[in-house]
Amino acid sequence: MNTVIDFQTPDEVSDYVRSVPADDFYILGRGSNSLINPDSIVPTVIRMAADAVVPEINGTRVRLGAGMPMNRLQDFALKQGLSGLEFAAGVPASLGGMVAMNFGCWGRSMSDFVTGIQVVDDRGEIRWLTVDAAQFSYRTSVFHQKKWMVVAAELELTTSDSETVRTAMLANIHTRIEKQPLRDKTFGSIFKNPPGHYAAQLLESAGLKGRQWGAIQLSDRHANFLLNSGGARYSDTIQVLELLRSTVQSVANIELELEVKIFK
Ligand SMILES: Cc1cc2nc3c(=O)[nH]c(=O)nc-3n(C[C@H](O)[C@H](O)[C@H](O)COP(=O)(O)OP(=O)(O)OC[C@H]3O[C@@H](n4cnc5c(N)ncnc54)[C@H](O)[C@@H]3O)c2cc1C
Repeated sequence: MNTVIDFQTPDEVSDYVRSVPADDFYILGRGSNSLINPDSIVPTVIRMAADAVVPEINGTRVRLGAGMPMNRLQDFALKQGLSGLEFAAGVPASLGGMVAMNFGCWGRSMSDFVTGIQVVDDRGEIRWLTVDAAQFSYRTSVFHQKKWMVVAAELELTTSDSETVRTAMLANIHTRIEKQPLRDKTFGSIFKNPPGHYAAQLLESAGLKGRQWGAIQLSDRHANFLLNSGGARYSDTIQVLELLRSTVQSVANIELELEVKIFK
């Protein structure tokens, strides 16, 4: 089993990064989009603690810690009457993971709100990145090329009132529950949507929706969600992912790209 270190401050991350080889650790948020090999030879997973950075508010601009879980972030926005992040309500992610993945849905993504990102780079330097330097695009960013840890982010939200924000959040959670297996163990969308296609539609057309392999099932509600009913092993999941990919390749001649991050 990997060791997990939750850091409280950017300085702690910096000291750690300076003291170990880069291959010694993985960077993780809440793990909601990640498949981790429990027998990995990489010994350590590092994360920012949920309460590591105290939120700072300057009008509609907020500075928040990367470890902040989405439900806490939603509570914070609700209390402050700040609107923007309702589209992510109900998702078990961290702010840092959402920035790294450029989390998005329903035509919105994190890059619409991020104005700056505090990172610890691979040399242990603590610095602020501009949005351009983050190289945001569809479900990706510079953090998939460089082993830099997001420790905080600055977001520009808009003024609203708590009741309006709450109503929008609840509506979005309701929509997710209707369309996605939100209460099951999943990692959200397995594959990215290829240009001009929906991965879920391709998987469904290939006859894979609802199919089961032991403890693993492709959701019968949303065909781009894989469910673990308990006891699914890392190696089984890898095999199923490969089977899904190769089936769509042979049926539709389209190569699906994983959205889920695999930590070998
Ligand atoms: C029910 C459900 C619904 C979902 N719906 C959506 C959706 O609508 N849209 C969407 O885009 N995704 C969705 N997801 C997927 C997932 O929540 C997002 O990808 C989210 O951004 C991942 O956040 P995380 O903190 O869990 O990241 P993790 O899974 O922990 O990590 C994901 C990637 O980000 C990197 N990372 C994490 N934290 C940091 C950090 N601090 N610094 C640098 N890199 C970091 C990791 O190295 C990894 O590469 C859903 C998932 C679930 C379970």
